[in-house]
Amino acid sequence: MTNNKIQMLKGLIGKCRGRPCTCPNVHLTLFFALIFFLFLGCNILAEDWEIYKSDHFSVYYEDNLSFAQRVGYKAEEYYKQLDRNVGFTRFGKFWTFDKRCKIYIYANKKNYLENNDIPSWSAGFANYNKREIKSYKESVNFLTSLLPHEMTHLILADYMGNNIPLWFNEGLAVNMELTSKSGYINAIKKELKKGEILSIYEVLDRTNYPEDEGKVLLFYSVSYSIVNFLRSKGQYRFTNLCRALRDGKSFEDALRSSYQFDFGNLARLDKKWQEHIRNLLTK
Ligand SMILES: [Zn+2]
Repeated sequence: MTNNKIQMLKGLIGKCRGRPCTCPNVHLTLFFALIFFLFLGCNILAEDWEIYKSDHFSVYYEDNLSFAQRVGYKAEEYYKQLDRNVGFTRFGKFWTFDKRCKIYIYANKKNYLENNDIPSWSAGFANYNKREIKSYKESVNFLTSLLPHEMTHLILADYMGNNIPLWFNEGLAVNMELTSKSGYINAIKKELKKGEILSIYEVLDRTNYPEDEGKVLLFYSVSYSIVNFLRSKGQYRFTNLCRALRDGKSFEDALRSSYQFDFGNLARLDKKWQEHIRNLLTK
């Protein structure tokens, strides 16, 4: 595996380490995580955080107001973008007043690592139950990649609760990143060039991430590509799909009610998506 790929995987795992999981071992992990967060909560209170507040975010920072303001500005921009693209946040007072999303920005990586139980390569993470994101000032790609990615997970969790298919959650989060998607597209191209047949069914029913690290990037790539393909058919259909999922419909029923003139069922979506990715090889 190339260094680039290893970095990409570490980034993915680092990003999504805080998401809910159905694995039985996780309950034990969650117990220790709870103890850890209670302990961490004491640390946070003990730390001398300054706060910058925007309409929907409270940015806690240690020493740099201008960076905190930049984080708040970008977060508001992504918030509006998610609203424009997906239509989640226009109902009610989403993330306002005491329901603001909290973003903690440590002054440097050392402080970030010392105060959080995370691997040394982590660039930041989200705690969905607490509606908060943590990172540090010099974190590479925090503003362009990690922040919009994690915000998407937080907003989806608030909007759709437990009705989010894993592939849809990750696929939309990757779509919202501003960084290049070439790594994901190349992963799909590579499989196709090997003669592998890719199908939407590879990700559709997954409730956890592939155990094989080599398959993790492909999982994200296929998920990103399917969501991107659905979004390419127009915002109106995509928003309806999200609402149908929020209301508890299965993905196939949600697809039927929102894309009936394009696909109508899973088999048809699979056929059209496979045609779409084969076209990537000609570009
Ligand atoms: Zn993620």
